[in-house]
Amino acid sequence: MNPQSVLKEKFGYDNFRQGQQEVIDGILAGEDVLAIMPTGGGKSLCYQIPALILDGLTLVISPLISLMKDQVDALNENGIAATFINSTLDYMEVRERFNQAARGEVKLLYVSPERLDSDGFMADLSQLKIDLVAVDEAHCISQWGHDFRPSYLRLTETIQRLSSNPTIIALTATATSQVAADIMQRLTIVHEVKTGFSRENLAFQVVKDQNSDRFLLDYLKAQKQQSGIIYASTRKEVERLTKLIKKAKIKVAMYHGGMKEDERRQNQEDFLYDRVQVMIATNAFGMGIDKSNVRFVIHAQIPGSLEAYYQEAGRAGRDGLPSEAVLLFNLKDVQIQHFFIDQSEMDEINKKHEYLKLQEMTQYANTQQCLQQTIVNYFGDEAPECGRCSNCLDTRDALDISIDAQKVLSCVKRMDEHFGKGLVAQVLTGSKVQKVMQFRFDELPTYGLMKDRSQKEVSGLIDYLVASGFLQASSGQYPVLQLAADGVGVLKGETKVTRKMAVKVRQALPEDNEL
Ligand code: ADP
Repeated sequence: MNPQSVLKEKFGYDNFRQGQQEVIDGILAGEDVLAIMPTGGGKSLCYQIPALILDGLTLVISPLISLMKDQVDALNENGIAATFINSTLDYMEVRERFNQAARGEVKLLYVSPERLDSDGFMADLSQLKIDLVAVDEAHCISQWGHDFRPSYLRLTETIQRLSSNPTIIALTATATSQVAADIMQRLTIVHEVKTGFSRENLAFQVVKDQNSDRFLLDYLKAQKQQSGIIYASTRKEVERLTKLIKKAKIKVAMYHGGMKEDERRQNQEDFLYDRVQVMIATNAFGMGIDKSNVRFVIHAQIPGSLEAYYQEAGRAGRDGLPSEAVLLFNLKDVQIQHFFIDQSEMDEINKKHEYLKLQEMTQYANTQQCLQQTIVNYFGDEAPECGRCSNCLDTRDALDISIDAQKVLSCVKRMDEHFGKGLVAQVLTGSKVQKVMQFRFDELPTYGLMKDRSQKEVSGLIDYLVASGFLQASSGQYPVLQLAADGVGVLKGETKVTRKMAVKVRQALPEDNEL
């Protein structure tokens, strides 16, 4: 059978989606392939169709133990012989399933990467005729990815030990160029198929400096019964939001790593089967979740990287219908992510890398460029402006803020490009805190140049200048501000800086009336 007829007869679809055919043709020609497609792009078919065409077995390596059963059930329902082996099964069941695979009764065998650490299991596997190995969520192999799993590192060696010399397909939704290069190097893959990263049905929004609770309640009420996910950074915040939203009589379930396994499973099912409208969760929820009608994903707090953000936000609209991905941005939430990195057991180099990713995430929240385009550019690709995101739809006039920008940039320069955002904002607003006095920054000509503004406002302006590429922040726990090449032009008066802003209409205060 050819791929097109398998697509139609086994899966009931008429046409391939972007990239699928190229990946499948590559595999059937015996080429190893890295497939990078957005969440919901249809990665599974890229190995399931070859699995049905190839003679031997397809081994699928997936970290999603809790979902293997669902994936295999879905295949079985389509009349495709597949099974899984993981830690939820007892010894006898494992043997039975293994024998089924050995007898050629199944076409796909799903296993977790940890399984392959067992020498006994590997010895058994090497007796099988495995034609294809599919490495799902392949970014887990890279230490630069956002979800590194040590047991993925041994995969190369493991695959080489298989006597049948199988073709390899690696799949991921979230590879930056660096992660992609890492996957290809580790799995010795040369052929990369990368489809457009844009999600045409997603409207990205950034909501800044608003009362998040109020926003969430209003948003959910306006959604009627539509299904959605709200992500928060900590278990405590998940619990608090769950209570808050329950009070508003909206059906919610929560999910985080601190809950009992069966409670998590139950809540996940309630959400999948639409018994509750909203899932409130930490990032423990969702990898591999295939709920097609998720209409919105809201991040109540900023996540640690754009990779994590895009993957989580991408769980909205897998059915292709218009959906929203909203990021609520509050400066204090960036501190939580800082804390996570600081407390983690990573070595200094990795920590530095994580701080950099957090900065890039923060820049996303502060940019006025098209949001979809910003994400796509981050993944090393090009895209036109989407016309759907909150930045594209922002009709406010862009004001010329060149003078303000010059004030900030010259202050950064006069502080010898040695200090971070907080201190620069304090100097500009004329603060008398000890550190300002200690370095005698109160003697700088830029001291107090913006004393009519709050430190928060000036911090926001600095974030904007970083996001727009006029300033750059070093990576690390305490990022230091430096002028970027474009910033020099601003100081020389050659480059104009504009920013869309709400024009403030100063309302008469009661005191004013009494005067
Ligand atoms: P992901 O890339 O996130 O792993 P999936 O493989 O789960 O995406 O596919 C997402 C959804 O798209 C699934 O419901 C799948 O059945 C559907 N799908 C995949 N390929 C096609 C296609 N060629 N035509 C129509 N629907 C498809």
